[in-house]
Amino acid sequence: MDRAARHAEETAAAMEAALRLAREFRAGLEALPPRAPADHASLLAAFAKPLPEAPRPAAEVIEELAAIARPGLTGNAGPNFFGWVQGGSHGAGVAADWLTSAWGQNVGPYRTSPAAAVAEMVCTDYLLDLLDLPHGASIGFSSGATTASLICLIVARDAVLKHAGYDIRKGGIFAAPPVTIVLGDEAHSTIYAALRYLGFGDANLARIAVDDQGRIIADDLAARLPAIKGPKIIVAQAGHINSGAFDPFTDIARLAKDHGAWLHVDGAFGLWARATPSLRHHATGADLADSWSVDGHKWLQTPYDSAFAIVRDKEAHEASMRIAASYLDPPPEGAHDPTSRVIELSRRARGFPLWALLQTLGRAGIVEMIERHCAAARHLGDLLRDDPRIRVMNDVVINQVALAFGPEGAQGDALTAAVIAGVQAENRSYVGGAEWKGRRILRVSVSSNLTENRHMETLAGSIRRALDKAAR
Ligand SMILES: *Cc1c(COP(=O)(O)O)cnc(C)c1O
Repeated sequence: MDRAARHAEETAAAMEAALRLAREFRAGLEALPPRAPADHASLLAAFAKPLPEAPRPAAEVIEELAAIARPGLTGNAGPNFFGWVQGGSHGAGVAADWLTSAWGQNVGPYRTSPAAAVAEMVCTDYLLDLLDLPHGASIGFSSGATTASLICLIVARDAVLKHAGYDIRKGGIFAAPPVTIVLGDEAHSTIYAALRYLGFGDANLARIAVDDQGRIIADDLAARLPAIKGPKIIVAQAGHINSGAFDPFTDIARLAKDHGAWLHVDGAFGLWARATPSLRHHATGADLADSWSVDGHKWLQTPYDSAFAIVRDKEAHEASMRIAASYLDPPPEGAHDPTSRVIELSRRARGFPLWALLQTLGRAGIVEMIERHCAAARHLGDLLRDDPRIRVMNDVVINQVALAFGPEGAQGDALTAAVIAGVQAENRSYVGGAEWKGRRILRVSVSSNLTENRHMETLAGSIRRALDKAAR
């Protein structure tokens, strides 16, 4: 057999094995333990086989990979995972992702994969429509909200400096006039990370007070802004990581305009409220911003990885992101190079699974899922609120529930930690913890496609059992 025929046969066998294994896994999602059962040592022992000297049949390797990885897989694709805002990788997106891999396309310049570039162009229109953001904004398809925020903040930095008469391309970052980053005291950790990658430190930040749900207090912002001289970027948030709360965008956008600031919205999961008529009011005014970072792989359920760096001013976006080289041919008239909106040159064709998912769910499918998740979060709150030992710490506005147990202080914190550990040990549902408002909290994020009210009843049962046991 020649090389090509052998390759075709080997590939087919490996893919058939992968299809069978993937189908088995998906069929078992309801019963999938949400916490990976294997410990670190056993996973390491299973994977750390000697590097083989001789080639092996790919199908055999695929079978082995599935067997050894399985106990170390987290059940976030299943309905009982509430640990973080993580999506469940919808099957339509997964199937399209397989094709994406099989096609092996590189989405750098337009010419490296016209179909991939066009899929992203069309998804740009779909997303701006769904999220009700300015028509004509541009989108870079990036790996996650972290890189999407990084891209948006690079564009913002370059643009506010340009507005101040400074060309960062010529002068570089170190001689630039100081830029102040104005953000809520409870901005997401990845915003701080992106700012640090960008060359900003604590000295460049103006942290604005937040209310009991973690929302920027607009009056505090208004009081602080007049004293902040020079170029500035305001970072607001749609969907607080613990409470799900939304900053007051209309007020913030007005202040940003009055003070010549760039406004960025971190809407990793929360901005999807804008796709849902019953929730849209939470994110009123978010469309007045200059840039937005949104995840696909969280609430929308695209397979990992998928996120959107959205910028109102397409020219500013491309001015900061474009990579020019003589060996890269320009795109055809009316098209653009996907690389001109992200920090990568070569990357995965993220538009294919996204296009397939949006076509499969449709607007109504997205609305149904988001509303179901929010109803499930409210249901959990209602199931637990009557217990005097349990305190719902947030207004359950979208898909987040923050719970604290027992009295305020060390005793309550210890009880909360014990409840989290008890739920994790039972492993019917998965929840995690955090520190918020000076207390240890149990966090519940409802964001996996398959989750419905009955899974919240399972979780409430686990919480009650863990609480009874811990309080005994
Ligand atoms: C998850 C999240 C991020 C980071 O997103 P990744 O996709 O994990 O990079 C940023 N901001 C908020 C509010 C988030 O919930």
